[in-house]
Amino acid sequence: MTKEIATPSKTSEILKKYGFLFKKSLGQNFLIDTNILNRIIETAGITKADNTMEIGPGIGALTEQLAKAAKQVVAFEIDQRLLPILDDTLSAYPNVKIVHGDVLKADVPKVIQAEFETPDAPLKIVANLPYYVTTPIILQLLHAQVPAESMTFMLQKEVADRISAVPGNKNYGSLSIAIQYYCEASLAFIVPKTVFMPQPNVDSAVIHLKRRTQPAAQVDDETFFFEVTRSAFAQRRKTLWNNLASKFPQLKPDKEQLTSELAQIGLDLSRRGETYSIEEFAQLSNFLQKFLAKK
Ligand code: SAM
Repeated sequence: MTKEIATPSKTSEILKKYGFLFKKSLGQNFLIDTNILNRIIETAGITKADNTMEIGPGIGALTEQLAKAAKQVVAFEIDQRLLPILDDTLSAYPNVKIVHGDVLKADVPKVIQAEFETPDAPLKIVANLPYYVTTPIILQLLHAQVPAESMTFMLQKEVADRISAVPGNKNYGSLSIAIQYYCEASLAFIVPKTVFMPQPNVDSAVIHLKRRTQPAAQVDDETFFFEVTRSAFAQRRKTLWNNLASKFPQLKPDKEQLTSELAQIGLDLSRRGETYSIEEFAQLSNFLQKFLAKK
């Protein structure tokens, strides 16, 4: 290929050549701006020593830049119609492997072992995510213990704001905690709609998630911790006590005892969940789990 894929003219040429029609249901909004792609690669800090994994290569706009910057790229694409197109557009890059399938159904750690030539090289995940499944994909990658040092994602700005929010911010909630428990999250930059073909309805942003070596807090039971954090934000205007009492009605008769015991470790149930740090939620869930077990 003489010209880079991520330009309006080259992208139109490829789409026309193959008679490709976008499937909105698969979140197909392709990037047509190499400057934005360079900023994504820079944010991800990709070097020739890195393995990279992409979700949804489309016609290969980001994949091409990853192939130039990294040691190897393995990319999951669900849409079979894109496979022959990618064969063509990425033919100059022998370090790219396309895996056909739904990333949500894949055994990602197994694919990493099978597809990378040096599976133990540092792994960085980079993607312009399909917007209809942004959150499930990120949570799946975190929970499947995919051994990635970092993940750099283009997604809806509204979701980026929720992921990177800190306590006290109106966007802070169970999604912020679910991700910041495992990663340091930062919003890198905002992206205008004009750099996509077709243009999405919402604004976009790039976030960088750096995997922590240890989770952000000491949690005895992660499943219970995430249950507590989700319930704490079930009704944002309610106090933590009211939300917890709806989720765990068996606690209602013990309100006084619980309030006084939690006060001793500095936790106040009359506050709203949005004021609680991850560390405080960890203390709360560790305490509640023992309290409920004794009942
Ligand atoms: N990376 C390309 C770019 O930036 O131009 C395309 C990004 S587009 C927003 C999302 C891509 O993800 C599409 O190619 C779509 O077919 C693919 N996709 C959607 N759902 C997927 C899934 N569950 N697993 C793997 N790929 C998926």
